[in-house]
Amino acid sequence: MTDCIFCKIINKEIPSYTIYEDEDILAFLDISQVSKGHTLVIPKKHVANLFEYDEDLAARVFTKIPEIARAVRLFDPEIKGLNLLNNNGEFASQSVFHSHFHLIPRYATDSLDGFGLKWETKGDTLSSENFTEIKDTIISKLEEKS
Ligand code: AMP
Ligand code: ZN
Repeated sequence: MTDCIFCKIINKEIPSYTIYEDEDILAFLDISQVSKGHTLVIPKKHVANLFEYDEDLAARVFTKIPEIARAVRLFDPEIKGLNLLNNNGEFASQSVFHSHFHLIPRYATDSLDGFGLKWETKGDTLSSENFTEIKDTIISKLEEKS
């Protein structure tokens, strides 16, 4: 896609700190470095978000993520964990509309304030009927697809 910044990175029209590349994916340092080592994994095929993946593309991309995550984790002994984050749609804070997975290393010295993902739990406000209704509706959507 011609006006996509990540396609331009793939095509080497703009530079990146690439750490891994093969025929299916590219992994490179996110310029914002939410934490040191913050890496993006992207498919070379332009898809806007997760909703556009077919099984083949998903297999090609997801199969590589654990290996890259292990390498990112090992680059600094102070890294004690890693968040895998994937924003889909503007409403979910996606700003670049070429699908990508954030690998964000978490350091022993991190303050949670620097990360900014708020995770309020609401499970205790739902009844078992609510849970069952949500479950059954999603199952029906899955069945419509197959
Ligand atoms: P998201 O908000 O999930 O769409 O994330 C997009 C990410 O792309 C942000 O974290 C940006 O810092 C990152 N980004 C944008 N342009 C570049 C670039 N030229 N090189 C590396 N990372 C970039
Ligand atoms: Zn693209």
